[in-house]
Amino acid sequence: MISISEAQDLIKAKLFTVASEELVLEQALGRILADDFIASEPAPRFDNSAMDGFAVRFTDVNVVSPESPLTLQVIGESQAGIPYAGHSEKGTCIRISTGAMLPAGFDTVVRVEDTESGDKGILIKKAPGKGQDVRYSGEEYQRGELLLTRGQRLAARHLAILAAAGADTVKVFRRPRVALLVTGSELAPVAEPLRPGQIRDSNRVMLGAAVSEAGGELVHMGKVSDDLEETTLAIEQVLTISPDLVICAGGVSVGPHDHVKEAAARAGFQELFWRVKQKPGKPLFFAGRKKIMFFGLPGNPVSAYICFCHYLRPLIGVMSGLPWKYQTVTAVADEDIANRGRRPNLMRVRLGAKKDGLPVVQSVRHQGSHMISSIIEADGYLLMEAESRVAAGTRVEVTLLP
Ligand code: AMP
Ligand code: MG
Repeated sequence: MISISEAQDLIKAKLFTVASEELVLEQALGRILADDFIASEPAPRFDNSAMDGFAVRFTDVNVVSPESPLTLQVIGESQAGIPYAGHSEKGTCIRISTGAMLPAGFDTVVRVEDTESGDKGILIKKAPGKGQDVRYSGEEYQRGELLLTRGQRLAARHLAILAAAGADTVKVFRRPRVALLVTGSELAPVAEPLRPGQIRDSNRVMLGAAVSEAGGELVHMGKVSDDLEETTLAIEQVLTISPDLVICAGGVSVGPHDHVKEAAARAGFQELFWRVKQKPGKPLFFAGRKKIMFFGLPGNPVSAYICFCHYLRPLIGVMSGLPWKYQTVTAVADEDIANRGRRPNLMRVRLGAKKDGLPVVQSVRHQGSHMISSIIEADGYLLMEAESRVAAGTRVEVTLLP
């Protein structure tokens, strides 16, 4: 049996980043940027107005005060998208809208609120500062500046800067292709009535969703009985659709009807490890066949889920262009928490309201690996060494569940 960190190292040694693809922005949400994104033009592209008002020459208006306002003749308009075509002249102004181009010769904007319309033109009641309410070309960024870094996950705001900077497509890593098989002769589809001894298959929907949550593309979902031939055939079949990763859940322990390891071997996978000193998830199995990785997860839903979170979620992240990382939070034990077992425990814990600036941690009531309610109650897990204890008041790092 190997340790958790040895298992992580063996997985990392097999890891690679999948190839990239070019997507239109509308399809790129949540994907990971494969190249740095450099500005090919300055922003703003041209000097423009920050306000609705009047573009003026500062030298005309700098002496204005409420006691001695000044009338300027309005000689035209610059609208957003429809620039003013004429020239500036002493004693004139043009009407200008927010975002509209500032015509050459005008250097300052007076807000509508600081003006009044009169018979002969527009009355400027308050002297603006020079360059007031002008947005200058390049003041946000210059051509050649780094706007987004490779490895950035694209949220709505990142798509906005890509669009603003003129990218209609973006190079992102493709999503790792994941095939999922659940094993077990006792499994029945959720919608069907249960025969004696049957249980509902909850791993399929859970792991399928977890793959998507982690950024993978689920390319196959299937179910097999506890039968070596059937399992081997199912694995061989998913290989024809070129997955990057095959996940089998159940059938990986030492029971007489656990065939996943043997079936993986028959399908050409070489074992890289089997069994990890941890609770839950001891029977975790990892194998490789050229560039394809194979995981056998324990069938117990909590074991399967925690193994997924601790090994497969970061793995899928790395394959899709992210670093290997966990989302963690520093918290403080609200009570003594003990792991009396002889294996390190990925103990499910709940976070409570903050005390002295840090959330408090409590162990959840049920820790049984068959009890799905325990991962509903939990916000994360705490890696507790074998036969160890955390005293109330101690600071700990909790790995958050997605
Ligand atoms: P196994 O790892 O195949 O020995 O299964 C361990 C436990 O997990 C057994 O109680 C199984 O019935 C249960 N189990 C296996 N597969 C699933 C599944 N897809 N959904 C829910 N429970 C499962
Ligand atoms: Mg089974």
